[in-house]
Amino acid sequence: MDYQKVIDKIYSELLPRRGVGKVADYIPALAAADPMQYGISLSTLDGRSCNAGDYGKAFSIQSISKVFSFAMVLRILGDEIWDSVGREPSGNPFNSLVQLEYEQGIPRNPFINAGALVVTDRLISLYDRPKEALLDFIRSLCGNDDIYFDQHVARSEREHADRNMALAHFMKSFGNIKNDIDTLIDVYCSQCAIAMTCQDLAKSFLFLANRGTNPLNGDRVLSVSQAKRLGAVMLTCGFYDESGDFAFRTGLPGKSGVGGGIVAYIPGSLSIAVWSPGLNRHGNSVLAVETLERFTTDIGNSIF
Ligand code: GLN
Repeated sequence: MDYQKVIDKIYSELLPRRGVGKVADYIPALAAADPMQYGISLSTLDGRSCNAGDYGKAFSIQSISKVFSFAMVLRILGDEIWDSVGREPSGNPFNSLVQLEYEQGIPRNPFINAGALVVTDRLISLYDRPKEALLDFIRSLCGNDDIYFDQHVARSEREHADRNMALAHFMKSFGNIKNDIDTLIDVYCSQCAIAMTCQDLAKSFLFLANRGTNPLNGDRVLSVSQAKRLGAVMLTCGFYDESGDFAFRTGLPGKSGVGGGIVAYIPGSLSIAVWSPGLNRHGNSVLAVETLERFTTDIGNSIF
C-alpha cells in the first residue's frame, strides 16, 4: 500500500476546506491558533513514515494527553483503576458535571475531563515528580527528547480552570480525589499544554498499534490485555459525545484534543495523527475527522 500517495490525495482534496469549524476559545492561548493549519503524519510498524502539510509543527495536544496519563497509571495500578473511573461512554460534553452527582463522584470514563482528573490525581500519588515522569514517558514513546510543556498555554489554562476546579472539588467531596486541588490542576493543565507535532504523535501511538510494545525500542509499555482495553475505551469514549459517530465514520480507536489534533491507529499496522485547529461543536477537529474518514475508506481497512 502506497500510504504517501493516499495521504497526498486526501490532503490536496481537503486543502480548500481549511478553516472550517471554530478554534477553541475558552482557553485564550488556544484562540490565537491559525485555523488554516493542516498536517498529517502516518507511521507504520514496519518503519515507514508518510507526511503532508504542517506535520512538523508543534501544537497543543490537550486531551490527547489523557491517553498517556492513563497508560502510565494503568500499567502500575492495573485493574484497580476501574474502582475509581468507569469505562462507559458519557454521551455528554467533555467538561460536563451532570453525571457526577448521581454516580457518586465516579466519572464515566478516563477520557472526559472528570475521569482524566482522577487519573492525573493517581499519577501525582504514584510519582514524586509527575510532570517530569509524564514528559519522560512520552519522550520514550516517540523517541524525541525535545517534547515540552508550552508554559504560555499552561498558564492560560490555569487562569481559566474554574470548571476543571469545580469537577475536582466535587469529586474530592466523594473521596475520589486524594491530592491537593491546586497541585492537581497544575499537573493537569501542564499535561494538556504539552506541545507535539503530528509526527511525534503518530510515533507515540505505535505502541498501541503494536499491542503494547514500543516498536522503536522494544519496551513493553502495557500488557497485550491492557493495550486491548485502552484501545476499546478509545473507540467507545475517545471523542466525548461524538464517540459513536467517529467510530461509525472511521472505524478506528483514537483520541482528540481541543487543540485540533486527533491520533488513531489500526492494530498490527499503523498509527496516524491529523491536526487542524477548527473544531465542531463537540470539540473535535472537523478536518481531522474528515481526513480519517477518507483514509480508512480509501485504504479499505480499519479495525472492522
Ligand atoms: N485542557 C482542556 C480542558 O480541560 C482539554 C479538553 C479537550 O481537549 N477536550 O478543558
